[in-house]
Amino acid sequence: MILQVNNVTKHFGGIKAVNGVSFNVNDREIVGIIGPNGAGKTTVFNLISGAFPVTSGSVVFQGEEITNQKANLICKKGIGRTFQIVKPFGSISVLENVMVGSYNWTSRPREAREYALEILEKVDLVHRKDDVAKSLTIADKKRLEVAKALATKPKLLLLDEVMAGLNPSEVSEIIPVIGNLVNDGISLVIIEHIMAVIMELSHKVVVIHHGEKITEGSPQEVTSDPKVIEAYLGEAVTSA
Ligand code: ATP
Repeated sequence: MILQVNNVTKHFGGIKAVNGVSFNVNDREIVGIIGPNGAGKTTVFNLISGAFPVTSGSVVFQGEEITNQKANLICKKGIGRTFQIVKPFGSISVLENVMVGSYNWTSRPREAREYALEILEKVDLVHRKDDVAKSLTIADKKRLEVAKALATKPKLLLLDEVMAGLNPSEVSEIIPVIGNLVNDGISLVIIEHIMAVIMELSHKVVVIHHGEKITEGSPQEVTSDPKVIEAYLGEAVTSA
């Protein structure tokens, strides 16, 4: 097992953004996290990656408790993440953006550059390596976001809605890129609103609603679970 999230809770003032959520990630497993808007999914990532301290609960990575450690230390230990709002360094090149990730494990520019090129190959972005990041399309910015995180050499990668804003053909191009990462020994947790992506990629799905885990199981199990259907229908009704 690579990750254990034990009963984590995060309160922001009076808001219980995450309330007693627990789940595990096995080696080379892809765990999907789904739930209506505002359910607490990104907050769970922020707690695992050290962006915010937990209010209570613990996070264990590769057998070591990492709860509330600094984000850069957690990254060095092997947890990479992407952000829902893509954050490239706009005025430097695509290659230099990815090299920033490599500096997580090396201080040698040549090594950083070689590895960044390897990663750009993997995500099919090497042809844009010399372009400034802000000139990329949204689909390529998403690939860059994945590349930056991969360049840190994660053992566990947290992907926050990397398919959002992509058209169906762009989505079907990126799915195998993500799915193949397990062959490199990487475990993944993916937050995704596009159900087809969750169904195709996840070995296990955790469903969060109002900050709480309402169920977990195979993609087929959770999508036929009445609690899950109600959580989503409730949202559709209230936002109609
Ligand atoms: P979405 O699918 O819309 O991205 P989500 O499931 O990722 O939503 P979160 O972003 O984790 O949900 O938010 C959960 C709750 O916590 C929301 O009510 C949100 O407003 C609140 N929240 C998140 N971050 C903060 C913060 N830094 N300060 C205060 N409240 C926050």
